[in-house]
Amino acid sequence: MKTYKIACIPGDGIGQEVVPAGEEVLRVLAEHLGSFKFDFETFKWGGDWYRAHGEMMPADGLEALKSKDAILFGSAGDPHIPDHITLWGLRLKICQGFDQYANVRPTKILRGIDAPLKRCESKDLDWIIVRENSEGEYAGVGGRVHQGHPTEVATDVSVLTRVGVERVIRYAFKLAQSRPKKHLTVVTKSNAQRHAMVMWDEIAVQISKEFPTVTWDKELVDAMTARMVNRPSSIDTVVATNLHGDILTDLAAALAGSLGIAPTGNIDPERRYPSMFEPIHGSAFDIMGKGLANPVGTFWSCVMMLDHLGEHQAAITLMNAIESVTENKSLHTRDLGGQATTIDVTQAICSIIKK
Ligand code: NAD
Ligand code: MN
Repeated sequence: MKTYKIACIPGDGIGQEVVPAGEEVLRVLAEHLGSFKFDFETFKWGGDWYRAHGEMMPADGLEALKSKDAILFGSAGDPHIPDHITLWGLRLKICQGFDQYANVRPTKILRGIDAPLKRCESKDLDWIIVRENSEGEYAGVGGRVHQGHPTEVATDVSVLTRVGVERVIRYAFKLAQSRPKKHLTVVTKSNAQRHAMVMWDEIAVQISKEFPTVTWDKELVDAMTARMVNRPSSIDTVVATNLHGDILTDLAAALAGSLGIAPTGNIDPERRYPSMFEPIHGSAFDIMGKGLANPVGTFWSCVMMLDHLGEHQAAITLMNAIESVTENKSLHTRDLGGQATTIDVTQAICSIIKK
């Protein structure tokens, strides 16, 4: 029987609540289906590790992850450690170390969820946003000199490379081609950013020629926010730079009901390294340790992981179980206006799977 080796990295805050919930659901699913198994290993990296060892994860930590089939991640972010240290020391170290250059974020309004967008037009909203995940505005290039002096200077230089842009735009076109609507929107800001974003646009034109069956359009990122609200059904697949994609996907999550629901995959499309799946939300300091975290974003991320592993039937089974739960308002957590706890939702999903 096929055994998948999964690294679990709960990280900080509610990551420590939702990742064990995801692990439990995956275990129950595998037991119920009986056609594959999981071998989980948990890595207790994050803020507590930092306090004990002075780093968010061991310097050779990637070695321990390399042989895994996939990674289930929670959140990096601790109230007592600066965010740029937690983010760069753990999550970005893995994303960049494993060249997970496509950050894939689907948006759907799940059954039973009262989403702002539902009140507009689209009942069958089905978006997938591909965020460039290895360079751009988050390349980490820049510096800071004369700290604290009036002459202080600080820069964050956005870096786009032809290789980096070509591969993510090609990935997005390929994804669009595999979906029923076969439509791609390329998000840009080439009016104001007149060098790299102009190259981005040119590369989009070039790559589009490889995909004659895909229709595509171009939208400035600010106009894109308005389009997401006003004409949601005009959107199918989207590709955007790192910063643009980061912001648009939080908006997408809120429009679909809650940040607590939205999933993501950090994908290495070439499969040289394990890909990493995580809810898009962060550590949620305001609710951590209270059992109030919505685990649905993690469960949906597990669906993406199963699809990535090629277990498509298991993915469908889990997605159906998730929507059976969201359909039931008494199983809504507080972010959705309900009173259910993380454990209530997890147990409900497990018992639906067993049925
Ligand atoms: P956040 O996502 O942690 O929280 C934003 C709001 O959404 C909070 O009110 C929170 O209670 C709510 N929320 C988020 N997820 C929820 C869930 N599953 N169930 C119910 N409510 C939920 O964003 P933030 O406050 O901007 O960031 C907090 C920390 O997390 C920071 O340190 C930040 O750097 C980090 N962060 C990490 C990641 C990541 O590792 N991928 C992503 C975003 C933020
Ligand atoms: Mn974000």
